[in-house]
Amino acid sequence: MMMKKPEKVSSYKIDLVALEGNGSFPCPKCGTTISPEDETEENYKVIYTKVANNELAELVIACGKCGSKIKLTGFQQV
Ligand SMILES: [Zn+2]
Repeated sequence: MMMKKPEKVSSYKIDLVALEGNGSFPCPKCGTTISPEDETEENYKVIYTKVANNELAELVIACGKCGSKIKLTGFQQV
């Protein structure tokens, strides 16, 4: 595991509505597959959640590999 000091953290935004399938997506920076179904937190780490009307409205995660911050929007309760 590389212990590189993060000098500049990139941040991205992903709209889940645009995703197909089970909601997994590759990290925009390093390509690591990030799946919301994965609860091991090995591939990503939840750093912020925003709840509106008892529903998840926004989620900010950090890629477990490169540390990029990724903001997820567009949650839909089907
Ligand atoms: Zn990454």
